Amino acid sequence: MAVRETQVAIVGAGAAGLYTALSAAREGARVTLVSATPLAGSSSYWAQGGLAAAVSDDDSPERHLGDTIAAGRGAVRESAARVLCEEAPQAVEDLQRLGVRFDADRRGRLALGLEGGHSRRRIVHAGGAATGRRLIRQLSALVAEDERIEVLEGRRVIGMVSAEGRCHGLHLDDGEVLASCAVVLATGGAAALWARTTNPAGAVGGGLLLAHHAGATLADLELVQFHPTAVVAPNGPDGFLVTEAVRGEGARLLDAAGERFVDELAPRDEVARAVQRQMALTGARAVHLDMRDVDPALFPNVVSALRQAGIDPERELVPIAPAAHYVMGGIATDAHGRASLAGLYAVGECSCTGLHGANRLASNSLTECFVFGARAARSAASEAGPDAATASGANRAIEPPPTLTEESRAALWSDAGLERDGAGLRALSGDPHPLVRLIAHSALARTESRGAHQRRDFPELDHALDGMHLAVRGANDQSPEAMLQKWV
Ligand SMILES: Cc1cc2nc3c(=O)[nH]c(=O)nc-3n(C[C@H](O)[C@H](O)[C@H](O)COP(=O)(O)OP(=O)(O)OC[C@H]3O[C@@H](n4cnc5c(N)ncnc54)[C@H](O)[C@@H]3O)c2cc1C
Repeated sequence: MAVRETQVAIVGAGAAGLYTALSAAREGARVTLVSATPLAGSSSYWAQGGLAAAVSDDDSPERHLGDTIAAGRGAVRESAARVLCEEAPQAVEDLQRLGVRFDADRRGRLALGLEGGHSRRRIVHAGGAATGRRLIRQLSALVAEDERIEVLEGRRVIGMVSAEGRCHGLHLDDGEVLASCAVVLATGGAAALWARTTNPAGAVGGGLLLAHHAGATLADLELVQFHPTAVVAPNGPDGFLVTEAVRGEGARLLDAAGERFVDELAPRDEVARAVQRQMALTGARAVHLDMRDVDPALFPNVVSALRQAGIDPERELVPIAPAAHYVMGGIATDAHGRASLAGLYAVGECSCTGLHGANRLASNSLTECFVFGARAARSAASEAGPDAATASGANRAIEPPPTLTEESRAALWSDAGLERDGAGLRALSGDPHPLVRLIAHSALARTESRGAHQRRDFPELDHALDGMHLAVRGANDQSPEAMLQKWV
């Protein structure tokens, strides 16, 4: 078996993986970055609105924290959210030092967008709504130039190397072992498991299963955010996201009679449910987003994508409906990205620090990639690891990647969508796909309605569950069903 050695192995080349790689290299570590897909295969590349940071004179990290806690519906792990809000401004400064050019106003100050649930303008963006593309291009160019970072492109991680309760490296799909002192999973989210999604096809939670099979704890898998404004175009770009920032600039949501039916800038769970209710009332497949009064120059890529789909947003209403967008749950970590298995870290959307609670505040996820990426890099770069011989002799936690069928995706959409109930979730818990089963177990165990998790059979929020997170132990633990835990 061929064994390659590195100090910090990072899986994933989205915002979290690229920034963690650069940060670990700046700590002096030798880094190997493995990425299965080209740039446009990551969710980060498609991010539109931007990243949240309290950088204006009338804002503060404390205010950002208050908004994050309010959006998270009593389930936010405050210690993690505080880290995010306090360190977000530094992350923006660091990205600027790295050459990312954010949009500025006429006086050269950062131009800040407004999104749902934010009480101040605090969304830092680039190229209008091309923030993800600009970030990923710049960060990947820096990674490619950095001599301390080796990049393995087009290679997929298929298993973790672990022994004596510690992670020692990775198995690659060409049979090679990558032995490392620390492994950082930055493999992105899982919202493409649902039939209707805003995510690229690869976002199916592969990293969560890798961690689970290696014995790490997952958490909050029942908490998935549905974005209210994904385009309905069955023969075109169905699920294409229209950023919430257009509502921050005045776009309105209209029912079939052309009337507003919701506060467009309420937190996402509220807006998505209001859209769903309207559709149920009328039997329509969509409601309308009216962008006719929004300056198209602010969102050039959104306007051009809609035009390509045959919709002129300057003159016509845009048909939209909710779609699965962001998984709040993931690999459970502390505030330094450390998972429950020693030597294993998780950052970005595949991680779960608990900071988003039951409903992520818009644009906190890119910020999370940078704030926790820097922290995980510092900690991972300080780990001492095994030699190559230990790694090649260690356990092979390889499970063949499960096949995801359209039936499973449709079942998730109907039984674990914006509204769920016990009967549907019990049926889903027998699905052939292992992650779908874990999601169903978690959703069954949360016997209440909170944020993005709405149970028809438990319609009320249960205050006894405030601050509680649902942990799913590693596959070797014999207790795969979700357990409630209080996180501090
Ligand atoms: C359309 C859209 C718009 C969004 N807009 C915003 C926004 O404006 N603001 C915001 O904060 N958030 C936004 N989000 C959410 C945000 O983009 C994501 O949460 C964030 O980018 C996730 O970054 P990541 O680095 O964790 O994962 P990703 O960017 O998804 O990257 C995952 C990487 O892991 C790799 N990978 C996965 N499995 C393996 C494997 N087994 N082996 C090797 N490589 C692997 C993939 O190839 C990919 O490179 C948006 C999401 C979407 C889909």
